[in-house]
Amino acid sequence: MLLSFHGACREVTGSNILLETDKAKILLDCGFFQGYKFAEERNYSPFAYIPSTIDAVVLCHAHLDHVGRLPKLVRDGFSGKIYSTAPTKELTYLVCEDNEKLMREESQRDNHAPLYTKKEIEEVMNLFTTISYNEKLEIVQGVSLTFENAGHILGSAVCIIEAENKKLVYTSDLGNTPSQLLDPPENITFADYVICESTYGGQIHEDATQRFKKLATILNSTIKNKGVLMIPTFAIERTQELLHDIDHFCTVENCEKPQFYLDSPLAEKVTRVFEKYPEYLNNVVRREHKDSDFFGKDLVKMTTTVDQSKSIREHSNPKVVIAGSGMMNGGRILFHLIDYIGDQKNTLLVIGYQAFGTLGRKLLDGEHKIRVLGRNLSVGAKIEAIGSYSAHADSIQIINWLNNISGLKKIFLVHGESDQQLALAKKIKMELGIFSEIPQMGESYVI
Ligand SMILES: [Zn+2]
Repeated sequence: MLLSFHGACREVTGSNILLETDKAKILLDCGFFQGYKFAEERNYSPFAYIPSTIDAVVLCHAHLDHVGRLPKLVRDGFSGKIYSTAPTKELTYLVCEDNEKLMREESQRDNHAPLYTKKEIEEVMNLFTTISYNEKLEIVQGVSLTFENAGHILGSAVCIIEAENKKLVYTSDLGNTPSQLLDPPENITFADYVICESTYGGQIHEDATQRFKKLATILNSTIKNKGVLMIPTFAIERTQELLHDIDHFCTVENCEKPQFYLDSPLAEKVTRVFEKYPEYLNNVVRREHKDSDFFGKDLVKMTTTVDQSKSIREHSNPKVVIAGSGMMNGGRILFHLIDYIGDQKNTLLVIGYQAFGTLGRKLLDGEHKIRVLGRNLSVGAKIEAIGSYSAHADSIQIINWLNNISGLKKIFLVHGESDQQLALAKKIKMELGIFSEIPQMGESYVI
């Protein structure tokens, strides 16, 4: 078998791996590259393979950096089957639809054609076959696929490919344990090869129990200062976890509450998918969900239309605005940054991974002057971060998960910046005695 890496190589976006057997070509994920601009130029480059020759795509979860180039793959000739869990299918539609809208706006501003249109997204949706966790299926002749829970976002899967008497495991993204909403990643007991994510390969997350305390402190100081708290979020998982914590804050904190806004039509639609698939949530949540407003919807105003979004600025402080996109490289959060980033009474709370080159990363790194939608802004607001909202396993969790797997010949590290990958490769060698490859873009390996 031949394994070629065409995205998320020594970086965290654009996941795309080609597996070739004697009889078939299978793609694992087909993600979008994300950087300072919403639609990076690289997304427009031709694929390194001929899409019409691909037999099947296996989608492990529905984050944009794992599914965002699928409509382009279809536009360029792919007509095979796409395999995923049922929530991944529904979330892929929402994510691609949202991406198409943001790209359309960006391409009008930059005066070029968008990467794809709604038509290609509809074509993608016609190609899906959904399978549940732990269900083995022969997807093309001689190649079988099993999904196991990855604990990363709703419906996320570790994919197990068996072909030519070899077992290949692809983590896609591995969840951070404990998750409020999901079961921990399923343990895998045997594999010949693992392709493993390494987003936080060199880091250890802060204690999850501290997370709520830190959020409550930031909310209380926003209330005291009569300020605005901006929280850029990823629409899937992080938003739902945050809504759950806000619900808890309003229940336990005996104080005047700020007005909460969820200014993300995508996050609102995603929350409905969470409610539709309770069997993909953990037991505790399923029990809670039966008789309570789990996602705090009676506390949080949903601002769906542009006019509703604009009206947020008319409401008095204190207020909390949760808006996309998560890395601040597009979306409604940009308009709130223009309104509020200059004032020291306000706070920007970062709760997700900020890729190199994104506005979010610049703010997190302490830049005082930023440019947003053609405007130069000075940063006066406090910049805070809570790491444990991360949906990714940290270094210890990755090592512990890999340690369950016997028979491993080699590990391929993807989906991480170089410093994180080198740190993880070193740790894997020391603790598990296994060699890790860190593929470069376009590199191939015979396995
Ligand atoms: Zn992900």
